Amino acid sequence: MRVSLLPARLQAALRCPDCREPLTFSQAQHQPDDAGAYGILCCPTHVYPVIDGIPVLRTGRVSVQDHMTGREEVVGPSVAELVSTV
Ligand SMILES: [Zn+2]
Repeated sequence: MRVSLLPARLQAALRCPDCREPLTFSQAQHQPDDAGAYGILCCPTHVYPVIDGIPVLRTGRVSVQDHMTGREEVVGPSVAELVSTV
């Protein structure tokens, strides 16, 4: 089953973590599979990726961290790189 948009209740509740403005979802032209939603969430000044239906509402890199120490174990892509990929 293809998911074409984020659930409306989720989208209505989302706010930009940086400026608190409402976020608008734009679906990616190419959906890599039928299971998830891919696209971007935008406020007037910030852009965040949505990967497989999961909004990535953060800045910096999306890395794997040790849960006990917070130490970065695997350096991941930046949010800007994810946005350009979607
Ligand atoms: Zn913002």
